[in-house]
Amino acid sequence: MAVTITCYGGVGEIGGNKILVEDRGTRVFLDFGAGFSEGTDFFSSSIEPRQVNGVGDYLEFGILPALKGLYSEVSLRNAAIKHAAPEFDAVILSHYHYDHMGRINLLDPSIPVYCGATTKLLHKAASESSGSPLDDRELRTFRTGDHFQVGGLDVEPIHVDHSIPGAYGFILHTSEGPVAYTGDFRFHGPMGSMTEDFVKGAAAAKPIALVTEGTRVSERARKKEVSEADVESETEAILAKSRGLIFSSFRGNDVDRILSFYRACQKTGRRLVVSMKIASLLSELSRDENLRVPRVGKDVLVYIRRKKGGTYDDGEYFKWERAFLNEGFTAEDVRKEQDSLFLHLDQWAFPELIDIRPAKGGSYIHASTEAFNEEGEQDEIVIRNWVGHFGFSYHQLHASGHAPNERVFSLVNGIGSKAVIPVHTEFPELFSSMTKRGKVALPRWGKSIVLG
Ligand SMILES: [Zn+2]
Repeated sequence: MAVTITCYGGVGEIGGNKILVEDRGTRVFLDFGAGFSEGTDFFSSSIEPRQVNGVGDYLEFGILPALKGLYSEVSLRNAAIKHAAPEFDAVILSHYHYDHMGRINLLDPSIPVYCGATTKLLHKAASESSGSPLDDRELRTFRTGDHFQVGGLDVEPIHVDHSIPGAYGFILHTSEGPVAYTGDFRFHGPMGSMTEDFVKGAAAAKPIALVTEGTRVSERARKKEVSEADVESETEAILAKSRGLIFSSFRGNDVDRILSFYRACQKTGRRLVVSMKIASLLSELSRDENLRVPRVGKDVLVYIRRKKGGTYDDGEYFKWERAFLNEGFTAEDVRKEQDSLFLHLDQWAFPELIDIRPAKGGSYIHASTEAFNEEGEQDEIVIRNWVGHFGFSYHQLHASGHAPNERVFSLVNGIGSKAVIPVHTEFPELFSSMTKRGKVALPRWGKSIVLG
């Protein structure tokens, strides 16, 4: 029996990877994420799928696959297909980003999820503070160097560098030969050598198929490539010449970014203040002996928002938040010490500036991707208005979590797989001209690619 690969997401789109690999009765999903553009023909910020209807509203428009023995009884309660005993062996999760794991909560709870040990810590921190799509299902953890068995498949995880710790690619040793999957990767982060390790491991395995991401594959000319090291040195320069408060917004679980900002602070005599959510994440990750993270209360301070009724009463805070109240900085504390602080503020927390009342002349560092659609552009206008209102200067500074064009193809050509399956890209067809070794198989949603 041949090995098949069927993509139910990540097809001509960025994110939403749901890649089914089937081999002699073993059926595993590589990731089970929510796509950014998934269902946008029917849903928007004003018409959303009903969470209480589980899979139902997604199945109506073919956004999720109508597969038997996949979803939980609860999520199928009002759906067109009936619940059946699980017919899938596992989800193998590459990393803890929503577009790779966001729909796992809909799956039958007896389908185990394999994930990196660090992902389990990220999940634990998120469960406490904001909820996690991995809910309370069984997580079986691995690290690089491990092999694990799922049904008839031998799975070899190999670390990659990405904008979140604990990211992996995989080699699945199937009955027809090895199948490699990159997950999301870059070479320009602090741990770029980990992606090189993956390339070496995958090339040595001589895969019959390579499923690769291509987020930044595009024909458009790019701006100069920015590495995470560049972010650190440019931040240091901004910190050195700025007076008054400096604040920034960035994705809270990008630990490389937290470290870049922390080091820039160390060199310029500022102190980094993070949200309670980031503080809780850093506390959890400090248990991971392979990671170096700033110590909460020592290396980084914690910003405390006022709670209901506009007070700082202990009783108003959740238990996980209370742990930080003693070492916390209030809006007033930030105002008093604004010349020596660098404050992390999520975009939704910008109204805190009204309480902080910073002096004019400070700096804002926009440390996320530039807008790529109309909604993002509108957001950016609002951010610029806030920054302008408080008299701050605006700086854009970001290193992507994904490799640029040429590095994606150096990976593809370096591994030299017989078949190349591009996912997590808006331009899969560009792979055909750029792939020098092997043949490109363009995935189609729900259509199986037969290997061997
Ligand atoms: Zn990712």
